[in-house]
Amino acid sequence: MTGQTRVDWPDSHWVACTPALEAAPPLTDAIETDAVVIGAGFTGLSTAWHLARAGVRTVLLEAQAPGWGASGRNNGQVIPTLTRPDPDDIEHRHGEAGARFVTLLRDSAQMLFDLVGEAGLEAEAEQTGWIQPVHTPGRMKIAERRVEQWGRRGAPVELLDAATVRTMTGSPVWHGGFTNRSGGHVNPLALARSLAAAARREGVQRFDGTPALSMGPRPGGWEVLTPMGRVHAHRLMLATHSYTDTFSSRLAPEIAREVVPVLSWQMATGVVPEAVRQRVIPGRQAVSDTHGDLYFMRYDARHRLVTGGALVVPAAGAARLRRRIGERLARVFPDLGRPTFDHVWNGYIGMTTDFMPRLHRLGEGAFAWVGCNGRGVALSIALGREFARALTGRPIDDLALPLTEPRPLPAHPVLRRVAPVRLLHFRALDNRELP
Ligand SMILES: Cc1cc2nc3c(=O)[nH]c(=O)nc-3n(C[C@H](O)[C@H](O)[C@H](O)COP(=O)(O)OP(=O)(O)OC[C@H]3O[C@@H](n4cnc5c(N)ncnc54)[C@H](O)[C@@H]3O)c2cc1C
Repeated sequence: MTGQTRVDWPDSHWVACTPALEAAPPLTDAIETDAVVIGAGFTGLSTAWHLARAGVRTVLLEAQAPGWGASGRNNGQVIPTLTRPDPDDIEHRHGEAGARFVTLLRDSAQMLFDLVGEAGLEAEAEQTGWIQPVHTPGRMKIAERRVEQWGRRGAPVELLDAATVRTMTGSPVWHGGFTNRSGGHVNPLALARSLAAAARREGVQRFDGTPALSMGPRPGGWEVLTPMGRVHAHRLMLATHSYTDTFSSRLAPEIAREVVPVLSWQMATGVVPEAVRQRVIPGRQAVSDTHGDLYFMRYDARHRLVTGGALVVPAAGAARLRRRIGERLARVFPDLGRPTFDHVWNGYIGMTTDFMPRLHRLGEGAFAWVGCNGRGVALSIALGREFARALTGRPIDDLALPLTEPRPLPAHPVLRRVAPVRLLHFRALDNRELP
């Protein structure tokens, strides 16, 4: 491994089951290029792939290796919505750019599955649909509102009554819900690695083990400094998301402070026997419900259920979650019994105060976004295409980019420390019926 960095991978199910990616060397030179992309998660990879396809010479800098951040650690649910706000609200707040963004969201899952086909990606992709069951009778009005708003915009959504949700999930705990048939799930690390390989085939020059330490405007474009090199490029995409200040506090402090990184824990059960699978989510949809302390699960290609949870206090988190989520799954799916978990891992989700992502133009020919709020698999792939279009000169008025000015959160270090306590608030709301 001379000249290559040792990557500090989490002990995740995805790392255990995903084929390795050919490593790229660190940057040790000064180079000139058309575009530089910082961060090789879905956003950076999709941006770089689309730029290269448009004939733009592109350099991709990654501090560790592709998929090391949220993109390789997540639940892999391909969901064409935000957690909130709903489409009417997004359009109300952001006008025409908001309306284009809603259309992008509507199409984002389909776009991901189309990209898998077009680029020939090995991502264990299953377009089986996404279900959002509701956990109290009063929350059916959330499902009704979403079906009405998305249905009006042509999304393939359908309201589900309690009996249908019970048949589709094998669970008696939910009171109905809705489904979007364009959703589904992927092995997220496989998607990241496969897209990285595809981007390289398209001519993207990738450097692993290469943290961008700082960036700034220079005559004719942007300069990015790394530990052993530098890149000068006409255009720049900052795609470091919740990990923006992990490797350099100088890189983009005003962007890093716009989101509160919150740990989300993931875990995979052993193989679920076929007889049980015929009753528990037999259609293999991705499922995530209306709890603030979210219930979510999906099968992977090896028939394990990949699920997880959140914790107020991270200490001894893996052991506590094995117990708590084991009990939860046994209660939610009586046919499953009490599962055991082979892997427990976590990653940071970038939360904003109003659950709306933040999209920015950092200056002439430079963009960034943060704040997926846990719904970024489909969105980051779709936004990658959109940012690539912006970087190749498409007018912003044609694009689904509701840009705002960066607004760092006041008292960010304090917020970051106390954020997990918000879970207690979500749990209290979960136990209440809607008025
Ligand atoms: C545990 C978890 C579960 C989730 N589950 C789901 C889900 O099921 N469905 C869904 O829609 N969304 C989910 N999400 C959200 C989703 O994973 C993210 O929105 C998405 O992966 C963001 O992709 P990204 O490329 O923008 O960021 P990331 O994947 O985080 O990529 C950022 C990259 O930048 C690199 N980087 C950081 N700093 C530097 C630097 N200075 N120089 C160079 N590189 C740098 C990092 O190493 C990283 O690889 C989940 C997130 C987490 C953490």
